[in-house]
Amino acid sequence: MAVAVPMAEATRRFTSEPRKLLIGGEWRAALSGKTFETYDPATGAVLATVAEGDAQDIDLAVAAARRALDGPWGRLNPSERGRIVHRIGDLIMEHADELAELESLDNGKPKAVAAAADIPLAADLFWYMAGWATKLNGGTINPSVPYMPGAEFHAYTLREPVGVVGQIIPWNFPLLMAAWKLGPALTTGCTVVLKPAEQTPLSALRLAELMLEAGVPDGVVNVVPGYGETAGAALAAHPDVDKVAFTGSTEVGKLIAQTATGNLKRVSLELGGKSPNIVFSDADVDAAIAGAAQGIFFNQGEVCSAGSRLYVQEDQFDRVVEGISTAASNIKVGHGLDPSTEMGPLVSQEQFDRVTRYLSIGEQEGNRATAGGSAIEGDGWFVQPTVLVDATADHTIVREEVFGPVIAAMPFSDVDDLARQANDSAYGLAAGVWTRDISKAHLLAKKIKAGTVHINSYHVFSAELPFGGYKQSGWGREMGEEVLNNYMETKSVIVGL
Ligand code: NAP
Ligand code: MG
Repeated sequence: MAVAVPMAEATRRFTSEPRKLLIGGEWRAALSGKTFETYDPATGAVLATVAEGDAQDIDLAVAAARRALDGPWGRLNPSERGRIVHRIGDLIMEHADELAELESLDNGKPKAVAAAADIPLAADLFWYMAGWATKLNGGTINPSVPYMPGAEFHAYTLREPVGVVGQIIPWNFPLLMAAWKLGPALTTGCTVVLKPAEQTPLSALRLAELMLEAGVPDGVVNVVPGYGETAGAALAAHPDVDKVAFTGSTEVGKLIAQTATGNLKRVSLELGGKSPNIVFSDADVDAAIAGAAQGIFFNQGEVCSAGSRLYVQEDQFDRVVEGISTAASNIKVGHGLDPSTEMGPLVSQEQFDRVTRYLSIGEQEGNRATAGGSAIEGDGWFVQPTVLVDATADHTIVREEVFGPVIAAMPFSDVDDLARQANDSAYGLAAGVWTRDISKAHLLAKKIKAGTVHINSYHVFSAELPFGGYKQSGWGREMGEEVLNNYMETKSVIVGL
């Protein structure tokens, strides 16, 4: 599977030197002196060496973020802050090709996909957020105070940054997840300690360089790569962190929420999913097939909102399964830097083991593959795009998040029971509905317990649209106006007249 694809000069330069931690505007080695390696998932070869931050480095980074909060950053006016945030978006696009290549090499995803989706979405998030910097207004309020008859007041609200924020992000969209976190934090005037995933620290470190270039003052953004159990846990537990924002597994999300109780820091969580994609007979079935395939195979299926449970109305079941199986078999799997590649490898040996374990559980439980079904022999962490049938509601493949290119297709006949089936999950992140009947589509959208419902579309991400989960898919929303609430306190000020 491995192909010799030349790296661009900028990527070679960035990966050839050991990467350091960014703390207080300085690039430094970890206090322990330790480093770890990140790999090219298409070959398993070492890509770069990175300083391994742990609890002591987190302490330094939190102190730097605290100083920066009390420093010049806090005195910038909103327009100045907004312009810096906007410039970060500009610099991302000026370095789009380099960032796409770095992302592809570190994560495995096709460079073309990173260039078309991850990079422009990240830039756009900063541009969108920049506009909010000058619009974070409170309101004036006329209080009614029953026990103070006749008293008059002038009252208003102030919206203030929550303070020092710890942000912990996953490896599936490394740059974009950094953007989702950093964009609103900077816009609201917070300062940040960011811990990228150990599998994919590189684009966040390159982004940090660009942020300094954009004029983000020293200490406002600190980046500490390292392991979750050490650096991540220390950040979530830190008594001088005012808020923690996490994206990753539901399991770790629960740990973060528990850890955060130490100082009752605020918590937002964007966690796993097992999202239903529902195809009615009256849909544009070809569009539904293409949408269902994209809904599961995009980004190797390593998407929290992947449409991994496919429900198809009985009389179209065979046609849809055949269509999506053909689509799966036609996907060109390969090295992310090969321009003809449509799907890359999974991110790590661990993720490869996890997905292939789910494939064997599926086989044991009687699921049948109509496409794919196994790993791809050779170097790298490749698995086949897979369609499974003969699945029922109690099967592991229908209940648990695989986080790989594996979809379970099931027929349905009872339309009245459909919302119950769609909601029969611990998760509630996203859903898809394919039909030409607008009334049916909107009624079902109301009944589905998920943070995002797509109608005749899937995987539509935009900086303007709030994204997040019901149930065990998380707390709070990313993006849109709503995410700003995660990063602000509201203060009521009352003046007796
Ligand atoms: P994970 O363990 O939840 O990792 C996410 C982030 O949390 C990483 O930065 C990780 O650091 C950190 N972390 C891990 N343990 C921690 C702890 N005890 N305290 C604080 N931070 C901690 O996810 P994963 O192991 O990489 O992937 C496992 C599964 O999670 C996937 O198969 C998938 O089901 C799910 N997942 C969901 C999303 C999503 O977008 N919702 C994203 C990724 C994964 P390290 O990098 O050092 O582990
Ligand atoms: Mg890597």
